[in-house]
Amino acid sequence: MSVHEQPTKFTAARTSDEPPAFDSRLAVAPAPPCPLCSGTRSDVLQRITVRHLAIGGTYRLRRCLDCDLVYITPRLDDRTLATLYGEEFYFPPDSPFSGIAGGVVELIQDARRQVVEKRARVGRLLDVGSGDGAFVHHMASHGWDATGLDFSPAASELAARRGLRGRYLMGSLADHDLPLRSFDAVTMWQVLEHIGEPVAMMRHVRALLRPGGLLVASVPNIDGLSATLTGERWWGLDVPRHLVHYTPATLRRVIADAGLHVVDVRHFSLQYDPYALLHSSLDWAFTRRHFLSDLAKQQVAGSMGPLEYGYNVAALAVLAPVLAPLALLATTAGAACRRGGFIEVIARRP
Ligand SMILES: [Zn+2]
Repeated sequence: MSVHEQPTKFTAARTSDEPPAFDSRLAVAPAPPCPLCSGTRSDVLQRITVRHLAIGGTYRLRRCLDCDLVYITPRLDDRTLATLYGEEFYFPPDSPFSGIAGGVVELIQDARRQVVEKRARVGRLLDVGSGDGAFVHHMASHGWDATGLDFSPAASELAARRGLRGRYLMGSLADHDLPLRSFDAVTMWQVLEHIGEPVAMMRHVRALLRPGGLLVASVPNIDGLSATLTGERWWGLDVPRHLVHYTPATLRRVIADAGLHVVDVRHFSLQYDPYALLHSSLDWAFTRRHFLSDLAKQQVAGSMGPLEYGYNVAALAVLAPVLAPLALLATTAGAACRRGGFIEVIARRP
C-alpha cells in the first residue's frame, strides 16, 4: 500500500461470539466457523499480539481445513471496528507529502480507470469502500456516473470537504436502496479483506450489476511472496482490521459462490506491492509497527520520546535506500511467478 493512501474501508462484520482480546478464556474458546464454507476445522497459522490501548490483545490467523480461507479470531464487534476508521486512517490533505502524494494518487486512479474501461463502456459505477473519494472523483471527471459508498463518516466528510465530483453515500449496501441490475461496473479496492461475510456481500453486489456488468476487486494475497518473506510483519495483515485473508483460489471461490463469473485473477500491483514490502521490512528495525506510515500521516509527534524518534528516523534514513530497490525487485519477481503481494479479480455478472 502506498504512503499516501491506506486501504479503503468498509465492513459488514457481525459481533463475534468470542470473548474479547486479552481474555484468558481465549485459549480454550471454540474456533468460530469459517466465513466462507462454515467449516469448523481450522489450523492456527499465526498468533499476533497488538499493543494498542483499545484493541490490544493476541489475535489468531486461522486457515480453514475445508476451504483454505484464512480468517482472524477473535473478531472485534462492529462498534469497535468502526472506531478504527476515523479520519486518522486517511492521508491528511494538508500533509507535507500531499504534493507528491497528489501526483501518485492521480497515477493510481488512472491505472484503475484503465482496468475498468478496457472491459466496460462508460456508464454507471459504484465504488464500494470509496474512502477519501479519490477514485470516484477521478471516474466522475472522466464521464462516469460515479457513486461512492463508505461506512466511515470520516470518509464522507473528507469527500465533501474536498468538493469532489461524484455522489457519496455513507453506510453499507444494506442501508441504501440502490437500483438492482443498474450498474455497469462495481469496484472494491482493498475492501473485501475488511468484510466478515464476503459471500453475502458479493451476492448483493451481483444483484446491483446489470447482466454482463463488471466487478473489479483487489485484496492483499496471504500466499504472496511479500507475506511469506515478512511473516507477521506483512503490511497486508493489518490486524485486527482485516477480517479475512485471501489467496487467488479462495478469492475466486468467494466471487464464484456469489454467482459471478471470474474472468481473471491478476497479480501485478506496482502501486501497492513494493511500498508494502518496504514498509513490512522496515518494521523489523523500528521500535513500533507502522512507523513509516504513521510518520507520513503525521501521527508520530507526542507518541514517542525524542530518543526513540531519533533512532527510528535514523533507521529509516539508513535502511530505506537499500531496501527500496530490493522491494521493487522482489515484488516484480513475485508478480511474475504469480505470487504477487496483492491480487485483483476481474469478474462479470452472467
Ligand atoms: Zn472454509
